[in-house]
Amino acid sequence: MANKKADVAIIGVGWVGGIIAAELTKAGLQVVGLERGHDRGIKNWADDHDELRYAVRYELFQNTANETWTLRHNIQENALPIRQLGSFLPGTGIGGAGVHWNGQTWRFHPRDFTMRTSTIERYGASAIPAGMSIQDWGITYDELEPYYDKFEYMAGIAGKAGNLKGQKITGGNVFEGPRSREFPLAPPPDTEIQAVFRKATTDLGYHPFYAPTANLPKAYKNPDGIERGACTYCGFCERFGCEVGAKADPLVTVMPVALKTGKFKVINYANAFAIKNDGKNAQSVLYYDGMGRVQEQPADVIVLGAYVFNNVRLLLVSKLGKPYDPVTNTGAVGRNYAYQTGGGGATVWLANTKYKRYMGSGANAVAIDDYNADNFDHSGLGFIGGGSISVGQSGARPIQSLSVPPGVPSFGRDWKVAIQKYYNSVVSVGFQGESPSYQYHFLDLDPNYRDKFGQPLVRITFDWEPNERAMVAYAGQKTLQIMQQMYPQATKAGIGPYSPTGPDLVQGGPGSLAAHYDTVPYQSTHNTGGAIIGADPGTSVVNNYLQMWDAPNVFVVGACNFPQNAGFNPTGTVGALAYRAADGILKYHKSGGSLV
Ligand SMILES: Cc1cc2nc3c(=O)[nH]c(=O)nc-3n(C[C@H](O)[C@H](O)[C@H](O)COP(=O)(O)OP(=O)(O)OC[C@H]3O[C@@H](n4cnc5c(N)ncnc54)[C@H](O)[C@@H]3O)c2cc1C
Repeated sequence: MANKKADVAIIGVGWVGGIIAAELTKAGLQVVGLERGHDRGIKNWADDHDELRYAVRYELFQNTANETWTLRHNIQENALPIRQLGSFLPGTGIGGAGVHWNGQTWRFHPRDFTMRTSTIERYGASAIPAGMSIQDWGITYDELEPYYDKFEYMAGIAGKAGNLKGQKITGGNVFEGPRSREFPLAPPPDTEIQAVFRKATTDLGYHPFYAPTANLPKAYKNPDGIERGACTYCGFCERFGCEVGAKADPLVTVMPVALKTGKFKVINYANAFAIKNDGKNAQSVLYYDGMGRVQEQPADVIVLGAYVFNNVRLLLVSKLGKPYDPVTNTGAVGRNYAYQTGGGGATVWLANTKYKRYMGSGANAVAIDDYNADNFDHSGLGFIGGGSISVGQSGARPIQSLSVPPGVPSFGRDWKVAIQKYYNSVVSVGFQGESPSYQYHFLDLDPNYRDKFGQPLVRITFDWEPNERAMVAYAGQKTLQIMQQMYPQATKAGIGPYSPTGPDLVQGGPGSLAAHYDTVPYQSTHNTGGAIIGADPGTSVVNNYLQMWDAPNVFVVGACNFPQNAGFNPTGTVGALAYRAADGILKYHKSGGSLV
């Protein structure tokens, strides 16, 4: 027997599910959240400084023994299952990955939303490499701005505006799109390392600013009346829940608001595997309960907030929308999978300078945006796109933050001497780059491998392309230049050979990417695409309210909507899209069932 019908059923209760549940229940709708993981409650994370348990053994993440993905680098290869987590770490349980994120909260640039048009306008169509399938979003920065603002005020983002209603402000990010008002909170002071970076980049003529953070620098009360205390800079953000609730996450922001209405019911251990539909509209969600039994949740509106991979998988399994075929370049579900391009950083190991690296917070960084997006002239460079450059100080935990120069043995006496010497003396300038989309980078259902319930796994087809290799090579020269300005004496020493009494050592120069995309080392949980937004139903899955072109009572929301990925972390934009979708659902509800 099916469950009682809800106004709205949401699959997945992370940032997307939590935001939409809060907005809809405040408006009086009855909402059911189906979450495959457990109820973390408003947990006291007092035990959270257990690096082995959370950061190394991945306690909060998806268990690949239950469900994983397969990967191939191109359509000629046979895809194989990713049997251990590595490259990315999707969450499971109430709050999703929002519980164990860092809190770096960006807005994309206005140009990011019109990447194809803007590139052609400035450089001509030939600047877009063959096979690159970048698209405009079908929504502009200005249309999304009120929703960015809503997310930032809900979460309590600290930063300094660099563009207030079109007026550029030194000290903020002067390359950002216009903000309608200042950040809700001012940023914290620079750490010593960040002060060195800020001075060096200023001296080089760049425009440093404090990167927007969801780690509260002081106590904050949001527009929903939710109060949270300040960050203690314990350094356990990424991969951990926040023990004081200073890091904005769904558990301490939107969930209490939704639950307080009495109109939000969460069903845990509800693993959605299909959406019943008649080809035009959806009727219900089918899920396995905690006992492995099939259950059914009917609803007037169904929201997919189950992260990139499962949003796409649910559409494909349910035969909702037209599956993407890369060979004929038709269909949309699975199209334009992209990621985030790393590499291109520079690192220095200082012989005689010590910083308080053990302190920090996940999003604590000073950045420049001079080499992001199209903020610099790409003429003659041989690539398009760019990325943000920053010095972060997120805390140096005792297991995974022991960086030693190349040449140091990986165990034994010399390693111990080196980690003592460098624990508080290593500084990195990082680069986080765009990931354009390509005709042959996509998601589909794997024909061979299945999850523990017998459902097909998502197959990822993805690799690094020459455009990104050129971008990273260029970025590496810029981060090394900054490092040389920060620590001129280190440059003289150059890299190696390492000796325990030796001078400063620096590593950098033209950046490079692995021969092929590698799923083993952690890179980022910034997977994008597969259910993209657009103005053309032929090449996109959802309209600019995140409503399916092919099934108006289905809304698909998250980084799956990005037609390509920008040089920033995704969640500021994911949050904005979730608020936009909530508006769309309310409009749809009032309209009596049509496209909004
Ligand atoms: C270690 C780490 C650090 C990060 N740091 C940053 C950062 O600093 N800045 C930034 O912008 N982003 C960061 N991110 C990314 C950020 O966490 C995500 O963008 C964000 O959490 C996505 O929210 P979501 O609601 O779309 O998906 P999720 O948070 O993944 O939530 C989806 C929910 O759906 C559930 N679900 C999935 N499938 C099903 C199913 N079939 N049935 C029922 N439920 C299902 C999952 O269990 C999960 O709870 C980080 C991510 C990680 C892992």
